[in-house]
Amino acid sequence: MAKWVYMFTEGNANMRNLLGGKGANLAEMTNLGLPVPQGFTITTEACTQYYEDGRQINDEIMAQIMEAITKMEGVTGKKFGDKENPLLVSVRSGARASMPGMMDTILNLGLNEEVVNTLAEKSNNPRWAWDCYRRFIQMYSDVVMEVGKKYFEELIDEMKTKRGVKQDVELTAEDLKELAEQFKAEYKEKIGADFPTDPKEQLMGAIKAVFRSWDNPRANVYRRDNDIPYSWGTAVNVQMMAFGNMGDDCGTGVAFTRDPATGANGLFGEFLTNAQGEDVVAGVRTPMHITEMEQKFPEAFVQFKQVCKTLEDHYRDMQDMEFTVEHGKLYMLQTRNGKRTAQAALKIACDLVDEGMRTEEEAVAMIDPRNLDTLLHPQFDAAALKAATPMGKGLGASPGAACGKIVFTADDAVEWAERGEKVVLVRLETSPEDITGMKSAQGILTVRGGMTSHAAVVARGMGECCVSGCGDIAMDEENKKFTLAGKEFHEGDFISIDGTTGNIYDGIIPTVDATIAGEFGRIMAWADKYRTMKVRTNADTPADAKKAVELGAEGIGLCRTEHMFFGEGRIDAFREMICSTTVEEREKALAKVLPYQQEDFEGLFEALEGNPVTIRFLDPPLHEFVPTEEADIKKLADAQGKTVEEIKTIIDSLHEFNPMMGHRGCRLAVTYPEIAKMQTTAVIRAAIKVKNAHPDWAIKPEIMIPLVGDIKELKYVKKFVVETADAEIKAAGSDLQYEVGTMIEIPRAALTADEIAKEADFFCFGTNDLTQMTYGFSRDDAGKFLNAYYDAKIFENDPFAKLDQVGVGKLMKMAIELGRPVNPNLHVGICGEHGGDPSSVEFCHKIGLNYVSCSPFRVPIARLAAAQAAIAEKNA
Ligand code: PEP
Ligand code: MG
Repeated sequence: MAKWVYMFTEGNANMRNLLGGKGANLAEMTNLGLPVPQGFTITTEACTQYYEDGRQINDEIMAQIMEAITKMEGVTGKKFGDKENPLLVSVRSGARASMPGMMDTILNLGLNEEVVNTLAEKSNNPRWAWDCYRRFIQMYSDVVMEVGKKYFEELIDEMKTKRGVKQDVELTAEDLKELAEQFKAEYKEKIGADFPTDPKEQLMGAIKAVFRSWDNPRANVYRRDNDIPYSWGTAVNVQMMAFGNMGDDCGTGVAFTRDPATGANGLFGEFLTNAQGEDVVAGVRTPMHITEMEQKFPEAFVQFKQVCKTLEDHYRDMQDMEFTVEHGKLYMLQTRNGKRTAQAALKIACDLVDEGMRTEEEAVAMIDPRNLDTLLHPQFDAAALKAATPMGKGLGASPGAACGKIVFTADDAVEWAERGEKVVLVRLETSPEDITGMKSAQGILTVRGGMTSHAAVVARGMGECCVSGCGDIAMDEENKKFTLAGKEFHEGDFISIDGTTGNIYDGIIPTVDATIAGEFGRIMAWADKYRTMKVRTNADTPADAKKAVELGAEGIGLCRTEHMFFGEGRIDAFREMICSTTVEEREKALAKVLPYQQEDFEGLFEALEGNPVTIRFLDPPLHEFVPTEEADIKKLADAQGKTVEEIKTIIDSLHEFNPMMGHRGCRLAVTYPEIAKMQTTAVIRAAIKVKNAHPDWAIKPEIMIPLVGDIKELKYVKKFVVETADAEIKAAGSDLQYEVGTMIEIPRAALTADEIAKEADFFCFGTNDLTQMTYGFSRDDAGKFLNAYYDAKIFENDPFAKLDQVGVGKLMKMAIELGRPVNPNLHVGICGEHGGDPSSVEFCHKIGLNYVSCSPFRVPIARLAAAQAAIAEKNA
């Protein structure tokens, strides 16, 4: 018989795949002798089984759960459903990888009218008893029956107004009892049945709801963003309740052993007296700083600090803990490696090395490469920031600089961002449903909530700028406006927020590019020490190339030459070339383009100072360049001595039904060799000129022919490239060397790579096209159906962003295995979008690529991911 349920005493930290992070760590804390309310974990395998059984908990699992309840009764001396001495439990999710706020929690389970009445009487604390009950009905209705929070919150607000109080804690036992009645009535109206009284029924309902929450939309989005497979499932933890809401000698808190925003070493967190866990995270009341707990609960605080040290030393990482104090006694409810901003991650990793807790390699492995992205985003211009006066201040909950137009709902954020607007999402408080909107925004500003509120936690996880808890904002969400510092702001008004200081500014503050320095520099230097794969960049202009070199690029893996034609003055000559009807006409137009190309290539060689530069010859279908405006057509016609009608006829003739599989790539060079010849001349002349100016630079241009599917295509084009290049070199009396290689971006090229390798000095995987052609999905249109694919669980990720290792990856592996034996000097890289995606970079390392190439701002991400792949391989 399979084992589906583990008591906390049966597990340990190494069992996170089976017990989830929370369950494994509750077990580990139990083993460490820390004060953990006891309970059990239902495994992630049980979750998978639940889905296999058609979203049912089967009898075997159910029996093991009830057996565990009996064991819990033995340990706690309480009884499930008992009036006199009831065992009340929390039911909480806990996946392998932590997904804060994504799934559901139910507290105080096991209560019913009878139990609560006795509890109210016996405990001498009716307020607590009724508070627990109303919370339970509220959470159960919301989480299990999906009635929705808002009805209950409205009832609470009504009650507070009626009683003339502001805070939930000011409501009396009688008020809470009345609320519980109202809640139950609300439940009955919405569900059409009485609120369940049988604790076993409540428990199974709650467990099912947690399993079900694995598949809720926000969890699905979170998983996609964080590379967490759907197949993992979530575990469920059932734990005896410890009560932070029994009075003023009770409370609950969330704390980190180091500051999750800056990484500073020292206890950081928040605490609320007379409250239950969700109050802190939900931002219902603004909590006090953790250090204030020292005055209120001196003994528990000393013990808590000791626990923090024990846990950090044990896990050798910053911990994020939840705890409760019940009548002065400390209970630990959770510990995990804390989510942190990119800055904090770098600082903590470096500090842990300096403190002797971690090795350099471990420090490199601790940083999530995707997080680095935020550090490379623009920061506020220091001078402009100094000159600006903040109009308000909240908590600097997640660092960064954000400016944009104000929007008030998550849906608006998504919609406006899709239109290309930069927006700042301003909310009273955020809830997990807002996640897509939060992602679309540049930054998030909330009126309520502390450093551990949902908005703060999620924003930090996403690396997005967030200012939370600006209580000075008078918000009118309904009418999409707010007042701050005496000024009324409406949807669409500009605002800037500083996620480091918490300052809020009217209007736009200019930003500047970020640089790699300090701890960032230290980690990147370690990454470079341990990685074996090179990192190049995709850059089309000298400015981009310089930026990429600053960020650590060791070469250009892809220069898309067509992007050079869009500049002022250039497009005209290029259009003349396209609309030529004879070779002579075309050559005349190309002669005008040549100097521009040469100048650009010189800039690239200069920027790379002798590091490799791969120049990809003209690739896109020509219709992308022709004029659409009447005036431009006229201008072109005049320049070529043609009529407007003639030009229009030529433009029409360029129309293709399937342009991405049409007249593009090397097919253009086959049809119009003079284009490739001109490009060869420009490359070689530029290289010779820069080489002559810098004899010590190892300049060796790499000419890359795109979209080859047949060896004969490559041979045909290569022949006149080589003839042209050699003639140029000879005429200049130079000894310049160069290479001619090809992109592998058509499945047939991968399948016949042994043939192609005979003619190619290098392969570079164009995984954008290779994905397009392997799947047969248009890279420009796949977005239209990908959401349906996610919903149907056909895809968990966009294959254009994260490499399909199974299919496309197999072609890549095959191409390398076929190509290298034929040409032992063959060097192999990747320059599709995947070259900057961490999991794809790892795959590239595994299959033995020499380099990955990605956009300049992803270069540090690729450097780190490559190092992590090398370290993981070494340790395997
Ligand atoms: C590719 O196809 O992956 C590639 C890099 O080329 P492009 O995106 O320019 O087609
Ligand atoms: Mg391509």
